[in-house]
Amino acid sequence: MPPASLKTRERLSEVRYEIRGELARRARELEAQGRTLIKLNIGNPGAFGFRAPAHLQRAIVDGIDQTDPYTHQQGLPAAREALAAHYRGRGIPDAHAERVFIGNGVSELIDLSLRALLNPGDEVLLPSPDYPLWSAATILNDGRPVYYRCLPANGFLPDPDEIEALVSSRTRAIVLINPNNPTGANYPRELIERIVAIAARHGLLLLCDEIYDSILYDTARFQPVAPIAGDVPCLSFSGLSKVHRACGWRVGWAVLSGDALAVREFHHAMDLLGALRLCANVPGQFAVEAALQGPNTIDPLCAPEGRLYEARRAVVESVAASRHLDLVEPAGALYAFPSVTGAAAEGFDDHRFALELLETENVLVVPGSSFNVPYRNHFRVTLLPQPDELREVFRRIERVLDRMAGD
Ligand code: PLP
Repeated sequence: MPPASLKTRERLSEVRYEIRGELARRARELEAQGRTLIKLNIGNPGAFGFRAPAHLQRAIVDGIDQTDPYTHQQGLPAAREALAAHYRGRGIPDAHAERVFIGNGVSELIDLSLRALLNPGDEVLLPSPDYPLWSAATILNDGRPVYYRCLPANGFLPDPDEIEALVSSRTRAIVLINPNNPTGANYPRELIERIVAIAARHGLLLLCDEIYDSILYDTARFQPVAPIAGDVPCLSFSGLSKVHRACGWRVGWAVLSGDALAVREFHHAMDLLGALRLCANVPGQFAVEAALQGPNTIDPLCAPEGRLYEARRAVVESVAASRHLDLVEPAGALYAFPSVTGAAAEGFDDHRFALELLETENVLVVPGSSFNVPYRNHFRVTLLPQPDELREVFRRIERVLDRMAGD
């Protein structure tokens, strides 16, 4: 008799991560058959020819003979000191090394922080669209995602009144993703002040995913949440993956701020959960100090004529020339989240469109509904390819949409 099939955790059926899901599997099949694809599904700088800056690479090479032991569960002391100084310089006076947690990417720390916080049935206020790991980690830590809308008509900015109306006796935290993946929205100071006030009124933790904190275009300026939050408990996340183009090194951090008594128990919980997994990947941690203290290598990419700036321009111009597309121009981050409008939008299904685009035009995008939105007329592309390649992608998208519109 064959062994009985293994059962898995039931709540996994509620979890989706379509950025690497069915469409990505189909893309691998097509590649195995010899097709050449343009894959825009993952914000993976290294896959598009970006390299981590040389001074970061050197820091790892120079430190490699010291990377054999486990480090402290919260991370290498020197890296944490450098991070604490960096965040103090950002206007967070209580950012000390003991309040810094280094993890295997922000991904691990998102999971850890929700595991530290949630009891079964607790609610987390999440943006819709979200980066889907936030929903997944909430669900897998027995919480319940409650979505506040960030609508295109409002430049993908949230409405604080709606956020406050969603607070219940079970709400524990508000998640902010700024600059935003997938929309590229960048939140103004007044909006953040209003959201901080809500967290203060209801005793909520602010979970601030700021992994794109230095990737901004044109006149957009990044406003971190923690300096505004002051005593209000806040965990600010960032890392080496995007701003420093070193996502394969798996280095992220979270900096805890807020009233010492209010955050004490949560701090201990994070430390304990960190200890249970011993420590994060050590070689990558050697690059943290270099990343914070070395030359700024992201601004030139985001300034006019810089590669990311020109990629964004290619997308914006392609959408402007399209008969079927609309776009809230991304102010920051590495993505655009266009919508399909007009005749092509009638009966439009983002999954069917993405599959058709893959099968007939060899382009892989992520359907918008993968980001936990109730509408199905959006898709996400990353801005990482060369600008000319992105122009070609949008020519192919237009062909598919022409066919769908019956032209
Ligand atoms: N948060 C956001 C908004 C992201 O877009 C990503 C990756 O794309 C992550 C977190 C995870 O980043 P990492 O685990 O590489 O630090």
